[in-house]
Amino acid sequence: MRVLLAEDDPDLAQQVAEVLEQSGYAVDRAPDGEEARFLGETEPYDAIILDLGLPVVDGISVLRAWREAELKTPVLILTARDSWSEKVAGLDAGADDYVTKPFEMEELLARLRALIRRAAGHVSAEIICGPVRLDTRNARVWVAGEPVRLTALEFKLFSYLMHHQGEVISRTELTEHIYDQDFDRDSNTIEVFVNRIRKKLGIEIIHTVRGLGYRLEAPEDASASG
Ligand code: CA
Repeated sequence: MRVLLAEDDPDLAQQVAEVLEQSGYAVDRAPDGEEARFLGETEPYDAIILDLGLPVVDGISVLRAWREAELKTPVLILTARDSWSEKVAGLDAGADDYVTKPFEMEELLARLRALIRRAAGHVSAEIICGPVRLDTRNARVWVAGEPVRLTALEFKLFSYLMHHQGEVISRTELTEHIYDQDFDRDSNTIEVFVNRIRKKLGIEIIHTVRGLGYRLEAPEDASASG
């Protein structure tokens, strides 16, 4: 999952970006409203964290511009403490949720996970596909109750497929959602990752759709997974 973090306070931005990266997100940062607006409109994020007090262009204006441009990405706003009017303005401008500064990282992460899974149509923190269970809270995966060890990058890729099960996902889309913008991307490596994940899972759940990409779908007979 790839997240845009629009926050002008460099210390806070650094702190949040580190926690997000440790939690398995690819993170792009925008230090002002102008860059935030541009990145939000041009890059395919799974969620956006938007400070409302941004320089150059304020957060509310950025949010309004995104929603007018019909950007549907879930947006979590960061608001000043004790400013109920800021929360109201943010929600009315199209924010999906808010966190009040100062906040606990755990709360930010929980709200972010909830936004991302709801946007993908999942209501629970655990995403299930046949015998596979993925817990978005601790980045763990099980097949038929047995834990599967995935690397951080393998988890990012697999988590994206799990969130979008049943859909055909191209290599380009996967590349865009597991790497941040500064990463030297190579969509050819996606196939290598997919094959490694397949081996680790030991079941046929990631199907190749020739010429188009991949589709995650539960095996016809889940009991034949062993
Ligand atoms: Ca600020």
